[in-house]
Amino acid sequence: MSTQLFTNAHIATGMPHSTAATTAVPQDILVEDGRFAEIGPDLPARLEAQGRDMSSAPVTDLGGRLVCPPFCDTHLHLDYAYTARKPGATNSSGTLFEGIQRWSETKSDLSIEDVKSRARTAIRHELLHGVQFIRSHADVTDPNLTSLRALLELREELKDVVTIQIVSFPQEGMYSYAGPHGEAGADLVEEGLRMGADCVGGIPHFEQCRELGERSMHTVVKLATRYGRLIDVHCDETDDPNSRYVELLSSLAYRAGIGVRTTASHTCSLGSADNAYFFHLTELLQAAHVNFACAPTENLYLQGRQDTFPKRRGITRVKELTEAGINVSLGQDSMQDPWYPLGNGNMMIILDYVLHLAQMMSFEEIDDALKFLTVDGATTMNLGDSYGLEPGRPADFLVLDASSVFDAVYERCAVLRSVREGRTLFTRRETIDSAFDDLIPEA
Ligand SMILES: [Zn+2]
Repeated sequence: MSTQLFTNAHIATGMPHSTAATTAVPQDILVEDGRFAEIGPDLPARLEAQGRDMSSAPVTDLGGRLVCPPFCDTHLHLDYAYTARKPGATNSSGTLFEGIQRWSETKSDLSIEDVKSRARTAIRHELLHGVQFIRSHADVTDPNLTSLRALLELREELKDVVTIQIVSFPQEGMYSYAGPHGEAGADLVEEGLRMGADCVGGIPHFEQCRELGERSMHTVVKLATRYGRLIDVHCDETDDPNSRYVELLSSLAYRAGIGVRTTASHTCSLGSADNAYFFHLTELLQAAHVNFACAPTENLYLQGRQDTFPKRRGITRVKELTEAGINVSLGQDSMQDPWYPLGNGNMMIILDYVLHLAQMMSFEEIDDALKFLTVDGATTMNLGDSYGLEPGRPADFLVLDASSVFDAVYERCAVLRSVREGRTLFTRRETIDSAFDDLIPEA
């Protein structure tokens, strides 16, 4: 049996339901065969008292730093990464719809190797920022399904370092898209599921008319039920307060008994809808237990483009959904693609934005903020017992350059170490010139 000890860590406690407190007493972590065996104080002494010979087990002193589960990026487009500078890809209006247009016009030359190479670079950035779980959409409105094929290969090739869930996503619509030989978006989505995609996608607000948007939601739920897959729909990504597909999606998923397996991504329209409508909708969301994935930086940039002033913020009601007990997780969404040029895979930046935009800055909210990147992401992704700092589960965790959740958020701190099934993926050393302490001694 392979055994190792990580000692002297402060652990974001309250898992799996929150990150609201940090252990006051340093904790030790015993890992056996890639799984957590025990987490608690004074483990070396207690194991010795039990007669366990730990003399050959490697010991890593974590220096009192904060340990939490790995970050989950629950909304990303790996196939689009680093395409923003392609000739013809420039999105001059900065709108969602021009982004879709530019992507459509420039995607015909994709190859599997090209998609994999760009996606690998994106994943590398995400990993170095502490992400180990990614839900990526793959555009299937392409008769060759090049993005999907590439990401399916990567999902397998990289499974030891990162868990990738793939959404069979009709970027140009289930019913508004027709391929060069008349292929329908909905059929390509289904083909993606047959090939092994984890989730059914949709984009109802982009379909040509309301009826087609509604039809697409019925198709999404039908396909998820038929193939036993999760759902993740780009839903109401518009400032139009009358875009109300999240209501239909939630109701259909609720009646099919798969609300917890369903995610509504973006839902920007809830930021524009009135309170009376949201009040009514909340009851349905609570009953259905659907998840929300918010991409704050991207939607802050893309939305409000038809407004002069006042100008809307473009993000969904993160605070109100959270207070109603509805699960919300976060996503980077774009890494240098025609929609948003500055995504770099740093989920601490995504968290920083959402706390500002959603006005969630009581000390209680900040102390609990890491949940958006960790346990709430795991809930969206339906990771179940394969995630979390619990004995018996895979020994996946991060060591952050902070000693409490508040300090981690306050400092927008770096990830110093990422461990997956007991194996350290990387370590990072943050050092400053020691002469600096002479300039301004620390209080
Ligand atoms: Zn997206």
